Amino acid sequence: MSFLDIYGHERQIAILQKTIAQKRVGHAYLFSGINATGKKTLAGEFAKALNCEQADNHHDACGKCSSCQKAQHLSHVDMIFIEADGQFIRINAIREIQERMKFKPLEGRWRTVIIDDADKMNDHAANALLKTLEEPSASNILILISSRPYSLPATIISRCRHMRFNPLTTNAVTRYLVEQKGMGEQKSGLLAGLSGGSIGRALELDQEDITAFRAEIMQLLMNAKKDDPISLLNLASNFGQDKKKIKQGLDIISSCFRDALVFKETRKDEILINSDKFPFINQLAQKLSAEHIIQNISLLARTWETIELNVNKTLTLETMAFKLNY
Ligand SMILES: [Zn+2]
Repeated sequence: MSFLDIYGHERQIAILQKTIAQKRVGHAYLFSGINATGKKTLAGEFAKALNCEQADNHHDACGKCSSCQKAQHLSHVDMIFIEADGQFIRINAIREIQERMKFKPLEGRWRTVIIDDADKMNDHAANALLKTLEEPSASNILILISSRPYSLPATIISRCRHMRFNPLTTNAVTRYLVEQKGMGEQKSGLLAGLSGGSIGRALELDQEDITAFRAEIMQLLMNAKKDDPISLLNLASNFGQDKKKIKQGLDIISSCFRDALVFKETRKDEILINSDKFPFINQLAQKLSAEHIIQNISLLARTWETIELNVNKTLTLETMAFKLNY
């Protein structure tokens, strides 16, 4: 594995390779962005490239030398991973790495410490880490990873090179599912389209068997008519009361309107999330104006914002069902 095997994040990879080339590697990084998009994998590859014994001129790991081999087996003494023990990362974990960081790396040029979910450090741990960040040492590199960087003390963030990671593109998630999980193109595309750019979310959706739920929602959406209140109430009640399920349902409906708009504008059916349901998408595209579709998409987003605030779910969903353009 090397930088070339990472899905997406081309800009961040280029920046990291450039810092290795220019010998201007920072002593602390913060990789932030939504969960399960490959931040930790990339941190590991960066650590590997730094210590590779025969890195190529793109400053990428060879994957073959003894340093790379150890890194791949997670047995490199100078590559340390820290994660939460239960709910928190505790001070003991930070003290332990501080002890090790007092000495030169044992085998490699650099010692890298990757702290996953760094926002889970409790106050004591964060204060202890701050001391390390204030007194950087020559051959140690800290990489903090977080999907909630706003929960980290500003004093910590300001001492790190902050690299923001965007959600992955639908295309990158699709490629991952096809190449790494052996899923079919169509299913991968659907899961990717509903994943919000997170590989982890796409895999969760696969487990939850999104296909059956999507079929139900689409049927109800097809049947919904402005002058038939029962059809609208049926659509609203199908979401249930579980927030996660509601979010899924709203994402599914949103993906249908998104597809209808894309098809209206491009006439291409191969870039649709729901390409297997083309007749339905086409029907929506024929029936609704672009303006009505856009209104629907923003209504769905507002509905989710309201539900997140713990307002009456049934009422909010029913109001949405009555307001959508069909
Ligand atoms: Zn190597």
